[in-house]
Amino acid sequence: VTGRPDVLVVGAGVVGAACVRFLAGEGLRVRVLEAGRAGGGATAAGMGHVTVMDDSEAQFELTRYSLRLLEGEAERFPPRVELDRCGTIWLAEDDEDLRLIRAKAQAYGSREIRTEVLSGPELYREEPQLRPGLAGGMFVPGEAVVYPPALAHWLLEEAKAAGAEVHEGVPVECIGAGWVRAGGERVDAGLVVNAAGAAAALLTPGLPVVPRKGHLVITERYPGFCHHQLMELGYQRSAHGMDAESIAFNVQPRRTGQLIIGSSRELVGWDLGVNRALVSRMLDRARYFLPELARLSAIRTWTGLRPATPDKLPLIGPWPRAERVWIAAGHEGLGITTALATGRMLADLVTGRTPGIDPTPFDPRRVLEA
Ligand SMILES: Cc1cc2nc3c(=O)[nH]c(=O)nc-3n(C[C@H](O)[C@H](O)[C@H](O)COP(=O)(O)OP(=O)(O)OC[C@H]3O[C@@H](n4cnc5c(N)ncnc54)[C@H](O)[C@@H]3O)c2cc1C
Repeated sequence: VTGRPDVLVVGAGVVGAACVRFLAGEGLRVRVLEAGRAGGGATAAGMGHVTVMDDSEAQFELTRYSLRLLEGEAERFPPRVELDRCGTIWLAEDDEDLRLIRAKAQAYGSREIRTEVLSGPELYREEPQLRPGLAGGMFVPGEAVVYPPALAHWLLEEAKAAGAEVHEGVPVECIGAGWVRAGGERVDAGLVVNAAGAAAALLTPGLPVVPRKGHLVITERYPGFCHHQLMELGYQRSAHGMDAESIAFNVQPRRTGQLIIGSSRELVGWDLGVNRALVSRMLDRARYFLPELARLSAIRTWTGLRPATPDKLPLIGPWPRAERVWIAAGHEGLGITTALATGRMLADLVTGRTPGIDPTPFDPRRVLEA
């Protein structure tokens, strides 16, 4: 893309990469400017669980739609994307949880998402390492795990093949109406898409996106220790609230045989430091569900900043406070899952096509109405 691009995307995380890919696929001239390395922000810190979440009707629709798009692309993923259709098991600790799980299974079923409610014995057949005494669970077979930065890189390669330009190591200093400033120079574009993740509000003041820190721990290789992405039912409570600090158990088997243990949520600004007390609470919770984890060695702990919004939904569409500025940001803990739906929806809106799902709940205009 020499000269003025039709669309200039700021940020090449998985969300920006998906936008570039679908926009370029429409024949638009697209350029992405990334301050660091593509896929090196929250995307590199994420767990890579691709999952339906039913925190709200809109979130349900967006996650379900994105899973469908991902399934449509899956055959073309190179091995490094590490797609693993391991499925998810939501854990029920007691009969009360099991009642909630049955309601959840019904809600999924009414939206044509296949689930199986597992009794206690069925749960232990799937995951013998779980602590005794759990009431059962809900298995969602259609869900998967990917390696997030590799997904972002693949999307960018697809975009480049369609003519897009990807520039790394180019921080954008400010975004104006149809232009950005980078390296002290103004770059004009038909429109600008702010996909800067947790940093989106630094470039577009008034955007209600804040960094929400998360920790993950990865172990050495223990193939076969567990077989599915495991989640405690309280995970959604932790994600939904905006507490200063919370933890919830989830664990993920990687293709390498390693386990990734999560998760935490914290509102501490841009601080990326490891909070040892919180990690130790997180690991206590993990050992509560999987006692034998205590025998495994962890090799690394890292943190990342989820781009969080007050209503737990991303902002996708034109920004009403500036001409020719669009937003694709605020995906909190679901950006790996919802990147494809975001890119598809944004490209549909830009080209005037009706998106595959109702875009209204994600319209950035709601910020002004709020
Ligand atoms: C611990 C943790 C676990 C997670 N687990 C999951 C999971 O299992 N499943 C799931 O779906 N999601 C998960 N997420 C959420 C997911 O990682 C994010 O929602 C997603 O990566 C957001 O993507 P993004 O492209 O918006 O942001 P980012 O990946 O952060 O990308 C934004 C990019 O913009 C660039 N940028 C910023 N400012 C500028 C500038 N001024 N100029 C140019 N470039 C700029 C940054 O360098 C960065 O590369 C997790 C997140 C964390 C932290």
